[in-house]
Amino acid sequence: MKNVRSVRGMNDILPQETPLWQYLEWQVAAVVSSYGYQEIRLPLVEFTDLFHRGIGEVTDIVEKEMYTFPDRNDESLTLRPEGTAGCVRSVCQHNLAASTTKLWYAGPMFRYERPQKGRQRQFHQIGVESFGVASPDMDAELVCMSARLWESLGLTDQVHLQLNSIGDSGSRQRYREALVAYLNDYVDELDEDSQRRLQTNPMRILDSKNQQTQALLDGAPDLRDYLDPESEAHFSRLQEFLTAAGIAFTVNTRLVRGLDYYNRTVFEWVTDALGAQGTICAGGRYDGLVEQLGGKPVPAAGFAMGMERLVLMLQGLGKVSENPAADIYFVAAGADAEVAALRLAESLRTADSKYHIHCNSGGGSFKSQLKKADRSGARLAVILGDNEVEQNTVGLKQMRSAAGDGQQEVISQQALASRIDELLREH
Ligand code: ATP
Ligand code: MG
Repeated sequence: MKNVRSVRGMNDILPQETPLWQYLEWQVAAVVSSYGYQEIRLPLVEFTDLFHRGIGEVTDIVEKEMYTFPDRNDESLTLRPEGTAGCVRSVCQHNLAASTTKLWYAGPMFRYERPQKGRQRQFHQIGVESFGVASPDMDAELVCMSARLWESLGLTDQVHLQLNSIGDSGSRQRYREALVAYLNDYVDELDEDSQRRLQTNPMRILDSKNQQTQALLDGAPDLRDYLDPESEAHFSRLQEFLTAAGIAFTVNTRLVRGLDYYNRTVFEWVTDALGAQGTICAGGRYDGLVEQLGGKPVPAAGFAMGMERLVLMLQGLGKVSENPAADIYFVAAGADAEVAALRLAESLRTADSKYHIHCNSGGGSFKSQLKKADRSGARLAVILGDNEVEQNTVGLKQMRSAAGDGQQEVISQQALASRIDELLREH
């Protein structure tokens, strides 16, 4: 019979990996809450229409990456490919943006992509969204917060900030016309995707990974020259804030981002450490999205980072987090001893939860149970047999004693908790 396997691009995160994920989640939660951001938990499934309206019809995500399926009542649903649209939907639905609202979320996202290192079909993002502030101090706060995350994770030396302003819709309209006019003379030299984009979403051509297309773009009009004065001022003010905060950046006028909802500020944190999948965090301002999804007009900005890519970077640094080893292993041979062991282990957990206590289960001889105790990494084995039960005692064996042969003692069951404290605290 053929084995059942996970879906391609949808990976298990195994017990030896979860401590690193927990470390990452914990660091991020600590940093974002220090800026006053609150966690929101959103559904994995939304009406398909939300993403069509929110992300844009002619984006990679909506054109070819979404997991869309009919519900049993024939409504079209989609596994969320990103978090911003759902977050905005929730903010509108619950009227959360009445005052400044700062939110973050973490969880799986789904995109039908070609799986490779740092690119999955189920992947995980941590996202941050801020509602209600149109001025560039908010953009600056978001960038500072992301920079502090890299600092807290020890990644600062390996990442670099790319920054751009894509202006308001008027400036993009004017630029789009100029870009199309320029590229129309070179249609045959463009890669296939870019030829199609010339008709549908020409600014996305700036993002092309094709080298010949990039070379053609060297002679193209520069988005910088088409910015409206307000966006220009917004952008210089943001740069002033970042310079004051000591955050280095490169202005990349070809940075446009793959989602339609952005205006003015866009940014990406990139690294050389991950090969082709070099963007670990991306975001920007999306002042029009709340209104576009049916809410009152509320300015907003945010970013999202890819957790798989961050975990890969942490592993590359040699960062290891491990599941905690056992402190205490209960060995019990005989029916009454098993009951006594369970009772004693439970009372230790009630008294003090700081120890990792493993109880033998499934029986076995003293010898085989002690072998399992050794493999668990426990420093102490608590040993119970018929004699110990009769006399209300336990055997206590130090599994990692300096002599290596394991010192053993017999003590009363009442004294167990305090003796364990004495022995384990010495280390
Ligand atoms: P890319 O250009 O790598 O496809 P994107 O522009 O589609 O990225 P966003 O939608 O901005 O990505 O998502 C934010 C971040 O989420 C990315 O910078 C990346 O770190 C991560 N990410 C996006 N798609 C995937 C994926 N399929 N697998 C793993 N991480 C991903
Ligand atoms: Mg993508």
